[in-house]
Amino acid sequence: MRVFKFGGASVKDASGIKNVYSVLQTVGYEDVLLVVSAMGKTTNALELVIKNYFDKSTELKSSVQEVKKYHNQILIDLFEDEKNEVFAAVNAQFSDLEYFLAHNKSPNYNFVYDQIVSFGELISTTILSHFMNFMGIQTQWLDVRNFVKTDATYRDAEVDWDLTQANIAKNVKRQILNITQGFLGSDPNNFTTTLGREGSDYTAAIFAYCLNAESVTIWKDVPGVMNADPRYFENASLLNQISYREAIELAFYGATVIHPKTLQPLQKKEIPLFVKSFINPLLKGTSVSKGVDLEPYLPCFIVKRNQLLISLSSIDFSFIMEENISEIFALFHQFKIKVNLIQNSAISFSVCVEDKFDNFNALNAILSKKFKVDYEQNVTLYTIRHFNDTAAKTVEENKIVLLKQVSRETMQVVTKEV
Ligand code: ASP
Ligand code: MG
Repeated sequence: MRVFKFGGASVKDASGIKNVYSVLQTVGYEDVLLVVSAMGKTTNALELVIKNYFDKSTELKSSVQEVKKYHNQILIDLFEDEKNEVFAAVNAQFSDLEYFLAHNKSPNYNFVYDQIVSFGELISTTILSHFMNFMGIQTQWLDVRNFVKTDATYRDAEVDWDLTQANIAKNVKRQILNITQGFLGSDPNNFTTTLGREGSDYTAAIFAYCLNAESVTIWKDVPGVMNADPRYFENASLLNQISYREAIELAFYGATVIHPKTLQPLQKKEIPLFVKSFINPLLKGTSVSKGVDLEPYLPCFIVKRNQLLISLSSIDFSFIMEENISEIFALFHQFKIKVNLIQNSAISFSVCVEDKFDNFNALNAILSKKFKVDYEQNVTLYTIRHFNDTAAKTVEENKIVLLKQVSRETMQVVTKEV
């Protein structure tokens, strides 16, 4: 069996969905399972609904209306005939969403988030499945929540592999085009959970693992995995082959092409992962598989913007040692601040972090009692795997280098604009 993942960008409008059909015509759809994300930016739009819901905003209704309007336009573009049963099916899903908003009593933000945001994937797969049928491809729509079982950690659920494996082995029919939702699961009480933003790749890997699939293909609007983001670097090149290990390293340093959790299950069973262009489906794209680490062997650039560089030094010139460091890390964890780089000397300790939840001020208040805290906001962290002199120059040129760390394979530089 082959597992195909189509992300939001590939199904963002009617022509995108028609293109999914033509990709399937080109590469075949026998013995295929499609894992599909919410259409376009629907997840973000539903996040706004959730925000309005909790803020008791007067915009709540109109934000739901936006999501409806967007999908309705796609339906009209695809089916024209409003008598097609897909209209009723999608309408029913919006009614379920509205029912939830009107009746929910849970104050648990993460729980509510998952119950609402999941409609993006439920609706996109409903539309896609009806469209395939409409075009003459028979499909089986699977509610992924009957397959992927998780714990109740809403927004970042942990997969129960044994239950999931049993469900998938028993209930996925082969020989037909299966369509299911990425990103979602369900907890022991059958409430909807999600696997973390951009989690659909991971769903594809879960199914591939449990089905012993022959491969996973992630269909993208780029030709494959590049050695650098072409928006920021000239001469970005396509990587033909990446080993699992190298891909895990790249994901660890923040390469966003592949969701980090996706690789482990695939690597365990040596299932190859292809990243291909949905515009040119016959091109080879990138293969992440057993084999050479990197081909062609090029420096790989990963950029993280909007970082915070914090330096702590002891007030009394005492050393910063195990006990302080573990205390500092416990605080980072508590304030959900992600550490991307560490450097320490005898009396000072520097970290480059990401403060997604705007917690640094609160943390700083605590740290300042014990340490002298210096910080620089809005810095950029460059990581170069397999760096060379030219690559290093590219990131350092015309910038102020605040910190630099070099190991055998990897160079990391924290910079500030001049
Ligand atoms: N729709 C979800 C998100 O945007 C999951 C995914 O696309 O992978 O995060
Ligand atoms: Mg997405």
